[in-house]
Amino acid sequence: MKDNHALIVGSIGLDTIETASDRKESILGGSATYATIAAGKSSSVHLVGIVGNDFPIEGINIFKDTTFDLSNFEQKKGKTFSWGAKYADNWDNRDTLFTELGVFNDFNPLLTHQNKEVPFIFLANIHPLLQLSVLNQCNKRKCVIIDTMNLWIDTEREKLKEVISSCDVLLINEFEAEQFTKRKEHDDQGTVLQSLGPQNIIIKCGSKGARLYSGHQLDTIGVFPVKNVVDPTGAGDSFGGGVAASLANGESMIESIINGAALASLTIEGFGIDTLHNASIDEIKRRKEYLRTTLNS
Ligand code: AMP
Repeated sequence: MKDNHALIVGSIGLDTIETASDRKESILGGSATYATIAAGKSSSVHLVGIVGNDFPIEGINIFKDTTFDLSNFEQKKGKTFSWGAKYADNWDNRDTLFTELGVFNDFNPLLTHQNKEVPFIFLANIHPLLQLSVLNQCNKRKCVIIDTMNLWIDTEREKLKEVISSCDVLLINEFEAEQFTKRKEHDDQGTVLQSLGPQNIIIKCGSKGARLYSGHQLDTIGVFPVKNVVDPTGAGDSFGGGVAASLANGESMIESIINGAALASLTIEGFGIDTLHNASIDEIKRRKEYLRTTLNS
């Protein structure tokens, strides 16, 4: 299998999002959805996930357009994963209103022969047991990238530690990094997280950019100046998809955070996946050029 293939597992869902000025109900969302659309801009995505029989055909068509392999994409009787959230005026706080796992409750995929052989694996945010079950079936791993969230740090800490110890790149936001490590300083958080196994830790700091701890090296990146933030949902997942795609393309860790930051900036400009999905390769290139100028500044 060629190296630009990335296997992505995570949630595929219907999100209800409330911002200070708008509300959208049951729009396409989920960690694997954002990651797949982002990664699909430059790599061949193998998507692992499940939806219920209430999932709209438009969503399925988007996956047909943006992936290389849907042999582990399942649709079964039942409800699609759904999640609701409300943002505070300044975007700084997000309250989860509900999380309904639906068909994810007993999802235990058996990877197809071709999916077991994909070398780059992105375990996007989902229950750590599902992340582990997919990971344990991958027998040609070159690089494992993972993302998670506060819920799993609270409820599944030991399983999450197990996933973290098997990965090469950990993506985590600054609040989760503090919650997990119980340290306030980013440098200390990076050290604690590296001591669990992964040599690359990416701490996502929202509008302040991101920090990459790679071995003994620290690199920082800023953000692309977005004129109007519409909906930040999925920024972290798009960032992760961008990182996975770059690494699958043989690019460096630094190039991977540039790609991640460019894709995240597109996601937050529209509701749900809209702006990200419609973004041209030229626009992504333009944003990456700008983001290069923010490195370590
Ligand atoms: P982000 O804004 O990058 O943190 O990601 C938001 C996406 O994560 C939304 O589209 C949700 O559907 C999805 N999500 C929220 N909670 C969970 C959860 N517990 N497990 C998996 N995915 C989730």
